Amino acid sequence: MHTFETLPFSNSFAALPSIFYSAVTPTPLAHPHLVGFNADAAALIGLNPVEARRPDAPAYLSGTTHILGAQPVAALYAGHQFGYFVPQLGDGRAILLGEVQTPHGGWELQLKGAGLTPYSRNGDGRAVLRSSIREYLCSEAMHGLGIPTTRALSIVGSADEVYREQVETAAVVMRMAPSFIRFGSFEVFFSRGQPDAIRILADYVITRHFPELADVPDKYPHFLRAVILATARLMAQWQAVGFAHGVMNTDNMSILGLTLDYGPFGFLDTYDPGYICNHSDQGGRYAFDQQPDIGAWNLTRLAQALTPLMPVDAAKEALDVYPAAFATHYIDLMSAKLGILPGKNNVSLITGVLSLLHSNHVDYTIFWRALCNFDSAPEAVNEPLRDLFPDRTAFDTWAIEYRARLQTGGAPETMRHEAMRRVNPKYILRSHLAEIAIRRACDDHDFSEIARLLDLLHHPFEEQPENTSYASAPPEWASRISVSCSS
Ligand code: AMP
Ligand code: MG
Repeated sequence: MHTFETLPFSNSFAALPSIFYSAVTPTPLAHPHLVGFNADAAALIGLNPVEARRPDAPAYLSGTTHILGAQPVAALYAGHQFGYFVPQLGDGRAILLGEVQTPHGGWELQLKGAGLTPYSRNGDGRAVLRSSIREYLCSEAMHGLGIPTTRALSIVGSADEVYREQVETAAVVMRMAPSFIRFGSFEVFFSRGQPDAIRILADYVITRHFPELADVPDKYPHFLRAVILATARLMAQWQAVGFAHGVMNTDNMSILGLTLDYGPFGFLDTYDPGYICNHSDQGGRYAFDQQPDIGAWNLTRLAQALTPLMPVDAAKEALDVYPAAFATHYIDLMSAKLGILPGKNNVSLITGVLSLLHSNHVDYTIFWRALCNFDSAPEAVNEPLRDLFPDRTAFDTWAIEYRARLQTGGAPETMRHEAMRRVNPKYILRSHLAEIAIRRACDDHDFSEIARLLDLLHHPFEEQPENTSYASAPPEWASRISVSCSS
C-alpha cells in the first residue's frame, strides 16, 4: 500500500511533443479541506486509505503539494459544441498530473477545478462544490451500475469564493481514468491540418489502450472501429439505465468509451424519452432519446478527424457498424432487464413496455425493480407492480404478452427474479438525493450524506433494507431543481 510519497507516478502524456498540452501549475485553494474520499478508487492505485487522514491530504488531493513524479499539464483539444465546431477548447480547469502504474495498467490522475490554464478562455479555472459533489457521486454511481466511466478519488473543498449565478465556494475533484483523451483531442489537429500530430496521438492511444492493434496492418481503421463499438456499447448502457448526459459535445466524448465530464446530467424519474436534463439545452439536442444518434454524429466527427490516417471509405465502413452494434447491445440489455433471452424478436415487447411507461408516467427505475418480482402464473395479478399504472387494463394487456414470452422458455421463476435484480438497480443518483447531500455540505459543512450516498450507490443492485427511502420516487420539491452548464 502506497503513501502519497511512494505512489509510482509518471506522466507519459507529458512525454509527447508539447503541441498536445501546456505545462501548468495548479493554483492552491484557500483553507483546503477533505469533503469526500473514496477508498474504492484509492484501492485501484494502491493508495492506503488511511492517507486520507493526514493533515496534508487535502493539499495533495487538490494539487497544492506536488506528488513526486507528477508533471502537471493541461491538454489541448477542440470540439463540436451543440453542433458547432469550436477550434480551440482544451482543459480550461482540468490538470493532468500523470499516471500511477499498477499491475492492472495505468490510472491517470486529473484535478478538476485546480485553477487557470492557457485554455481557460473566459472561465476562472474553478469548479464549485455543488457540481463537484455531483461529479464525484455520479461517476461512482455509474461505476456501481457497471457502466464505463471516469472515477473519482476525492473532493477537496475550500474557502475560495467563485461566482456563478450566485457566490459559491471552489472545490477540486481528483478524477481517475486510464485516459482522458477525447474525440476533440483529434479534431483540433484535423482542423489545423496537422496529420502528423493525429498519427502521434493515435499511436499513443493504440499502444497504451489497444495494444492488440499495434501490429495489425490496418491498425487505424481497426482503432476507429474499436472506439465506435465502445461508444455504441456505452450509449446502449445509458439508454438502458435511463441516464442522460446533458452535454454530449465531442470534447466530452471519451476515446475509451467512458462516461466523461459530469455536468447537468440526470437519471430519468418518470419515463420520458424527450427528457432534457440540461436547462441550457433549449432545442433538446441532447434529450435522452437523442443520445444514440448524437453518439453516431460525434463518431462521424471523430472519423473525419482520423481520415488523414485512412481512406475515407474505410472510415465510412467503420461508421456503418454503429447502428447494428448499438441495437444489439441495447436489445441485449433490455432483454436482460425483462429477464428473457436476447433476440430481435423482443423488440415489440420492449417498445411496448416503454410506450406504456411513457403514457402512464411511471417511474423508470421503480418499474424495472418491481418487475423483478413478476409472477408469471396465469392467475397472478402482480400488485403492486400493476398499481404503478393508472391504466391497469393497458398493463394487463402488456402483461399477457410478457407472460406468454416468459412461458416460451428461459430460467425458472426464482432464478429469473434474481438475475433481473442484478441488472435492474434499486438505487440511482436521483437529482433530489444529490441535492440533499449538496445542501448539507454547502449550508452546514456536513459531509456525511456524501459518504452515505457513495456507499449506497456502490451497491445499487443490493436490497439494502435500511436504505429503502433512497429508492423512492422524487418528492414534489425535486421538480424545481434545475441544472445547467454553469458549474
Ligand atoms: P464542459 O462543457 O464543462 O465540458 O466545458 C467546456 C469547455 O469549457 C472546456 O474546455 C472546459 O475546460 C471549459 N470550462 C468550463 N468551465 C470552466 C471554468 N470555470 N474555467 C475555465 N474553463 C472552463
Ligand atoms: Mg468538458
